[in-house]
Amino acid sequence: MSGVAYFSCTKCGATCEAAKPQTVCVKDGGILFARYDLTALKGNFKLSSISSRVASLWRYAEVLPSAQPVTLGEGFTPLLPSREFPKVLIKDEGLNPTGSFKARGLSVAVTMANAYGLKKLAIPSAGNAASALAAYAAAAGLEAHVFMPKDVPLANRGECESYGARVTLVDGLISDCARIVAERSPKEGWFDVSTLKEPFRVEGKKTMAYEVVEQLGGLVPQGIIYPCGGGVGLIGMWKAFDEMEELGWIGPERPKMVAVQSAGCAPVVKAWDEGLTVTESWKGASTLASGLRVPKPYGDYLILDILRKSGGRAVAATDAEIVHALRQWAGVEGVFAAPEGAASLAAYRKLRANGFFSADDLVVLFNTGSGLKYLDVIDGANKPIASPPQRQIGGIIGPY
Ligand SMILES: [Zn+2]
Repeated sequence: MSGVAYFSCTKCGATCEAAKPQTVCVKDGGILFARYDLTALKGNFKLSSISSRVASLWRYAEVLPSAQPVTLGEGFTPLLPSREFPKVLIKDEGLNPTGSFKARGLSVAVTMANAYGLKKLAIPSAGNAASALAAYAAAAGLEAHVFMPKDVPLANRGECESYGARVTLVDGLISDCARIVAERSPKEGWFDVSTLKEPFRVEGKKTMAYEVVEQLGGLVPQGIIYPCGGGVGLIGMWKAFDEMEELGWIGPERPKMVAVQSAGCAPVVKAWDEGLTVTESWKGASTLASGLRVPKPYGDYLILDILRKSGGRAVAATDAEIVHALRQWAGVEGVFAAPEGAASLAAYRKLRANGFFSADDLVVLFNTGSGLKYLDVIDGANKPIASPPQRQIGGIIGPY
């Protein structure tokens, strides 16, 4: 496929051709990265020459596969200055199609599935990736088979069914969904677009770093705080910083990459604290931030390596801290964040309190999705302190 020169394995370095669909390295199951001829692009693909391009992630076409994009306008989300912290910026991914950052990865993955002539796509998902696959598959006229935990937010189910996806709700976690997809895909003829088991979701997610650098006028922030379930965005952004350096857009400077997880499912934080290079599967994962219920991320070896190389770290936030942060962002910033996104603010507060970041550090917090996708979850979280004697709503007649 033109654009991508070849794929290379992130474990053993083996390469394979990009002209046909690939999953993971056949030798060791390593995650494959798409590689471009950046030397040829250097000097020709410049930050200064793209300002008038389409306001979507496809503005970075030279470092994406060259196929007819299956696009719904994903990416190029706002980088909002915080009202509370002068040096903090909020990258609001809730404005993407399907209301989450998953749109980026699935736009590029479905674009390539379509270009390769694949017809049936399957995904295990904690919720939002399923919604995004369902939307892009619908736009491309492809079949989507989605497998989600039965207690995903209602929006994810409603979206997937509306987009015409074949929805299976599983009594378990995303890891159980992944096992079912892996077992059934060969005989059903599905192409498995699981997190990091095909190389193009990373390509879509990496554009978040291109955008941050473009929106900062070529600057690299001191820190990035990123909610880490599967960790595709973290991995993609790190890849993008390397690409931007090769392109001559930035120097060797890098942000401290911080992964935030829920205390109810924190395999990366546990591995980080114990100095390990891979995670152990988290037992009894439970958190209202459903996108963070990933007991063992497939890309754990890359995530932990990035945290280490960047001078970052992994941080856990409790559900109570997440709910508090969600209200804080909504009430102070006017940003109604997904619980996963709100975890970024909880982590930032901790890292300011312990001196990891100073008030002068430019730090980008990622809100990965819109709170509108989680109305049932947020309503549930509000219940214990809700039901005041006098409701602060006027003009609504109901059976109170
Ligand atoms: Zn390999």
